[in-house]
Amino acid sequence: MVPDVLIIGGGLMALATALELRLRGASVTVLSRDRREAAAYAAAGMLAPQAEGLEPGPMLELCLRSRALYPDWTAKLESLTGLDSGYWPCGILRPAFADTPPPPELQQSDCPVEWLEGEALEQRQAGLGAEVVGAWWFPNDAQVDNRRQLVSALAAAIEQAGVTWHEEVEVLKIHQCQGEVTAVETNDQAKIYQAKHYLLAAGAWTGGLFDAAPVTPRKGQLMALRPGVGAEPEVGMPLGQVLFGDRIYIVPRRDGLIVLGATSEHVAFQPGNTAAGVHQLLTEAIRLCPALASYEIAETWWGFRPETADELPILGPSPLANLSLASGHYRNGVLLAPITAQILADWILEGKADPLLPAFQWDRL
Ligand SMILES: Cc1cc2nc3c(=O)[nH]c(=O)nc-3n(C[C@H](O)[C@H](O)[C@H](O)COP(=O)(O)OP(=O)(O)OC[C@H]3O[C@@H](n4cnc5c(N)ncnc54)[C@H](O)[C@@H]3O)c2cc1C
Repeated sequence: MVPDVLIIGGGLMALATALELRLRGASVTVLSRDRREAAAYAAAGMLAPQAEGLEPGPMLELCLRSRALYPDWTAKLESLTGLDSGYWPCGILRPAFADTPPPPELQQSDCPVEWLEGEALEQRQAGLGAEVVGAWWFPNDAQVDNRRQLVSALAAAIEQAGVTWHEEVEVLKIHQCQGEVTAVETNDQAKIYQAKHYLLAAGAWTGGLFDAAPVTPRKGQLMALRPGVGAEPEVGMPLGQVLFGDRIYIVPRRDGLIVLGATSEHVAFQPGNTAAGVHQLLTEAIRLCPALASYEIAETWWGFRPETADELPILGPSPLANLSLASGHYRNGVLLAPITAQILADWILEGKADPLLPAFQWDRL
């Protein structure tokens, strides 16, 4: 039986959209080369439209809508699977040095922000570095433990929902004829797969498969720290919220692990952690939060953000009638997973174009 939708990719966009389509009744097949190389296994998991300092416009609106979907979306994953999704509405503190520019002022009721300094800042977060002059507090920003929890919950949910998922299957070519996809060719003994509709969601690798979606990799290195065995708790630790600095973010997980991110490098798909990358993360993290100097290094890793020329995602239709696109989410793809799934399912199943879709169409690039 030819499925209603065939999805190319094994990251958050592919899995979140597969689940949404399946829950609305479509039959769905996912072809994924390697789920472990997905950016979801690298990202820090901040849900941070305000701390990111996004200017008012379609991208901020898309991000705010997705942030608002997160509590219900993760609760749905949890009730489908019985697994913890790792969602934590902990708020984000953006500490400022003397030369830190202020974030844009947003006149929206769902975007509260408070400037803290002195005693008020000390109460919110003790132990910040001596150069910190104050901090913006964004109580509605949040985080999710994407690496250890969210992807597992999502993978379990799509299997339970009845999505057909072929792992270690790489799409080599998208065959087209008269403005339509006719089939995709794979490395699975050169097997051909067909569907009524196709969705390309191959993250940073998308541009290599389809020229009209020019998405390229932007590498990021991260690491995790944990308190030393038997160490006395330091002032201000454990952290109760994310710290979003100028060149560093510090993301505490509920079990005490601290994620530090991330470098931003144009080095194509070059793997590995470098001395310079790790040095940058540690120097900036200790400047912001000196207590981290005594922590142990737990792990280092890296990943590839899917980037477009204007740093905005590509969503919805493509030049081919039966191919849709969900890629290029760059630094905000964890945040944007629920809204992407919703908008793409509306588009693919009902031909319903969300009012924001024109801002993210492929032909702007
Ligand atoms: C260092 C770093 C930090 C980040 N921090 C955050 C953050 O704090 N908050 C946030 O919101 N976002 C963050 N992001 C961004 C976010 O992780 C990404 O935007 C998002 O995960 C992209 O999801 P995706 O599904 O488009 O791509 P990916 O997750 O990269 O998935 C692509 C998938 O496609 C598969 N694939 C590729 N080519 C083929 C093929 N030919 N055939 C079959 N399968 C194929 C791959 O194997 C992979 O599984 C971060 C990213 C990085 C790298």
